Amino acid sequence: MAAQKGTRESDRLFTQAQEVIASGVNSTARTPRSGWSPYPLFVDHGTGSHIFDVDGNEFIDYLLGLGPMLLGHRPKEITDAVIEFISKRGTVFALPVADEIALAQKIIAAVPSVEQVHLSNTGTEAVLYALRLARAFTGRKKIIRFEGMYHGFSDGVYWSKHPPLAQAGPDIHPTPVVQGPGIPDGVEDSLIILQWNDSEALERTIRGRGEQIAAVLTEPVMCNTGCILPQPGYLELMRELTGKFGIVLVFDEVITGFRISLGGAQKHFGIVPDLTVLAKGFGGGFPVSSVGGKKHIMQLVADGTVSMAGTYSGNGIAVSAANATLDFLTTPGIYDGLLEKSERLMKGIGERLKFAGFDCDVVGLGPLFQVWFTDSPIRNYRDAVRHARKDWFRVWWEEMMQEGILFHPDAFENLFLSFAHNDRDIDMTLEAVDRVIPSLHRRMK
Ligand code: PMP
Repeated sequence: MAAQKGTRESDRLFTQAQEVIASGVNSTARTPRSGWSPYPLFVDHGTGSHIFDVDGNEFIDYLLGLGPMLLGHRPKEITDAVIEFISKRGTVFALPVADEIALAQKIIAAVPSVEQVHLSNTGTEAVLYALRLARAFTGRKKIIRFEGMYHGFSDGVYWSKHPPLAQAGPDIHPTPVVQGPGIPDGVEDSLIILQWNDSEALERTIRGRGEQIAAVLTEPVMCNTGCILPQPGYLELMRELTGKFGIVLVFDEVITGFRISLGGAQKHFGIVPDLTVLAKGFGGGFPVSSVGGKKHIMQLVADGTVSMAGTYSGNGIAVSAANATLDFLTTPGIYDGLLEKSERLMKGIGERLKFAGFDCDVVGLGPLFQVWFTDSPIRNYRDAVRHARKDWFRVWWEEMMQEGILFHPDAFENLFLSFAHNDRDIDMTLEAVDRVIPSLHRRMK
C-alpha cells in the first residue's frame, strides 16, 4: 500500500502494535486479512469529511468509521455537548438521568416502529436483546437469518456472514456456517439460514415452520455484502408473512438507521417492523445503540420478564452525544443536501466507470453505496461471491487511495457520506475517478 507521501510510519506502528495488541488492531475489519494489507493506515486525526494519517497523508473519508461518523469527524455541536455533559455532570451513575427520556422521545418521534426503547452501547448488544425479546415474546426458538448479513459477534448470530460456498449447502437450503471456533455446539439448531431476496424460500420456510420461528432478523438493505437493495415486494412479503404467523420482524438498522432518512429504511420503504435495532449514526461518533419497538413486546422488559442490563447503558457520553446528534438530524430539510450530494457522487462514479467500458453497477441508497464490478445483477450473497470481481475492486481501491480517496478495501463493505462532505469533496472525488481510469484499464485485464 502506498499513498501520496508514503506510509512508513503506519508500517512501523503496525509492527509495534502487533507485539502488544492481538492482530495489531482492535477489530477484524482493520486487519490485513480484511484488505488493509500489508498494514492498516494509522490515523492521526479527522476533521469534517477528511482524515489525516500519521505520515501526513490527507484523504477524503468515505470510510467514516464504518458508519458512525454521519456528521463527519469532530462535529463541534456534538463534541461540545459531550464535553459539557461529562465535565459538568458526569458519566455513569447506575441511576437514570432526565436526558435519557429526551433521547427516547426523539428516537420514538423519528422511527416509525419505535414506541419504547432500551439503550445500550453497541449494535451487537442491541441485536442480542432484540432476539431475546422475540424469543421471550413468542415462546419460540428459531431465528431466520440471512446469508451475507452481519448482526454483531454474539454466539447466536455469528454465523453465515460470508461462508465459503463449498460449506454452505445448496442455494435453496443453506446450512448454518459458524464464523469460527469457540461458539458452542447446538446454537445452529436455533437458526434457519436463507438467501436474501428469495421470496419463494421465505414463503416456503414460514408456511412450513412458522410455528417454530420467533423472529425474522434482517437488514432492510443488505449493507454487509456491499450494498444490495431489497427486490420490489420482498420486504412487504416479509412483513405480511411474519404478521400472519405471529413472528417478530426485527429490522437491524444499525447501518441504515438515521442515514437513509431520519426514520431509516423503514420510513423509506414504508414497512414497519416489530422491533428495530439502531446504532452507529445516531451517536455522532460516540458508542450508543438501542432496541425499540411495539409497546406490547417492550412490555416484557417493563414487567420484568426480560432483564436488560448494562453498567454503561444510558451513560452520559452516549446520551449527550445522541441527544445532540438527533437535534442536528431533526433540523428541517437537513437530509436534502446530503441525499443530493450522495446521488451526484454515486451517479458520477457509475457514469464515468461505465463510459470507460467497465462492467459495473453502483448500488446504494442515500449516503451509502458500493461499486460492484460485475456483469451480472447482485441480489444476494451468493450472487456476490459468484459474480463480483473482488480483484478488480482491489485495484479500484488502490488507485483511489493514491488519489487521496479513502474507503474500505473490501468490496463487501460500503462507502459512506456524511453531512460534512461538501460539493468540493464530490468534485475532487469525481476528478480522481477520471484520473484513475487509464490505470484501471491497464490493471483490470
Ligand atoms: N448490525 C449491523 C447491520 C452491522 O453492520 C453491525 C456492525 N457493522 C452490527 C450489527 C454490530 O454493531 P457493533 O459493531 O456496534 O457491535
